[in-house]
Amino acid sequence: MASNKFDVEATTLMVEELRGTFNAGKTRSYEWRVAQLKGIIKMMDDREQEIIEALRLDLGKPEFESAVYEIGMLKSSCARALKELKHWMMPEKVKSSIVAFPSSAEIVSEPLGAVLIISAWNYPILLSLDPIVGAVAAGNVAVLKPSEIAPASSSLLAKYVPEYLDSSAIRVVEGGVPETTALLDQKWDKIFYTGNGRVGRIVMAAAVKHLTPVVLELGGKSPVIVDSDVNLKVAVKRIIAGKWGLNNGQACISADYIITTKDFVPKLVDSLKHQLEKFYGINPLESKDLSRIVNSNHFDRLTKLLDEEKVSSKIIHGGQSDRAQLKIAPTILLDVPEDSLIMSEEIFGPLLPILTVDRLEESFDFIRSRSKPLAAYLFTNRKKLKDEFVRTISAGGIAINDIALHLVVPSLPYGGVGESGMGSYHGKFSFDVFSHKKSVLYRSFVADAPARYPPYSQGKLRLLKALVVGSVLAVISALIGLPEHFGSKDKSA
Ligand code: NAD
Repeated sequence: MASNKFDVEATTLMVEELRGTFNAGKTRSYEWRVAQLKGIIKMMDDREQEIIEALRLDLGKPEFESAVYEIGMLKSSCARALKELKHWMMPEKVKSSIVAFPSSAEIVSEPLGAVLIISAWNYPILLSLDPIVGAVAAGNVAVLKPSEIAPASSSLLAKYVPEYLDSSAIRVVEGGVPETTALLDQKWDKIFYTGNGRVGRIVMAAAVKHLTPVVLELGGKSPVIVDSDVNLKVAVKRIIAGKWGLNNGQACISADYIITTKDFVPKLVDSLKHQLEKFYGINPLESKDLSRIVNSNHFDRLTKLLDEEKVSSKIIHGGQSDRAQLKIAPTILLDVPEDSLIMSEEIFGPLLPILTVDRLEESFDFIRSRSKPLAAYLFTNRKKLKDEFVRTISAGGIAINDIALHLVVPSLPYGGVGESGMGSYHGKFSFDVFSHKKSVLYRSFVADAPARYPPYSQGKLRLLKALVVGSVLAVISALIGLPEHFGSKDKSA
């Protein structure tokens, strides 16, 4: 049901229907899960051109980016889940304890129930359906609320999700604040939210009412440190691909700002200017390979960052914009003040400030003094620097000598820390985040140790203490009545 006519009663009814499906056990079978994952792949294949067109309408997203970063990544996520699902669903045998001897133990992954997924506009297809991959792989029913800021993608999802996925278990609700507020008022078994931290706080506050666990996939200012010993040409190309090549900087893990040394910055800037011109031409506002800004609010927000008095004089490349077409050229700024707006909030657009330091190591303190970012990047060949960066910089994820590429490695969890969010997904982490890990212990009726039952005695106490500590020697010495100090030093389990 794609509901445009939306009200609270309809929401309650919808959630009741979904819970009915869940309680009937329909979504638990391996076959059902596989059918949904295959349905997503089929939707991507059948509707590829319509998806590319919706993303062009919403963001002017180049076909290349839509095909690779939205459709391709989503299909790869489904393919991996299909390949691994049997294994993921299998109970995991684990060692039991001497206290429970004889017994066996396992961890059973069970679906949580009904989950709510609220997604953002910048990758409106991927960020909506990739969490659905995890939700259905784990056997849940789900409601997806796409972002109203990408209306063509939102209505495409509302149109095609019911066609390709089981509508008795997966629904799309379109809308903005009132609709999301009504959804948040319902009781969910998990809320998975992608977007900014201000709304993240609203989501978390709403979840408190029903003690609902949340995943918050937020953003932040992701720094890029550039050392002078790098292969400059490769580094610069990767920085450009990880900034302007990701939705023109409107990506949560794109480069937010660069820090390099005062000595090296002229070379870095020259190379960036040169490559930018090679990639996007002398008039980048005309380039077909750059997304536009999503809407006039975000356009005005970004130009305001540039218009701040202490910032506008710092533009050393780009700066052109066209409000009618919602376009802003790749723009580089040098040595903007730390207390400027552009250095205070996540940029989420095509502006790239460069800060300079005397020694690169100083940049680590700068990053540590700010909120923990979603990603942190370092370009260097120095092993010691890499080690220190990985060891001392807290971020959702780190990539050394590249930007954003850690996102495509499904064996790595993707998520934030601190202000950049909580919880993670991708690959098996997507299955886990929508599962409850249930502890199960199997016992039989044999070997029923009387020591745990009253009337209690010193002998029983000694034996139980030894069992709980897991000391084999102490257990033996308690059983055969040796003095208590025997076996007390044994630490074996
Ligand atoms: P957005 O405006 O699309 O909002 C996200 C969702 O929140 C939408 O579905 C919207 O309807 C809902 N929403 C907005 N206001 C609300 C309210 N008052 N109450 C309830 N729901 C409300 O997207 P955005 O926030 O502009 O997205 C950009 C931010 O998201 C950036 O900070 C970016 O870094 C972050 N982001 C993070 C990831 C990630 O994977 N970690 C991915 C993309 C974007």
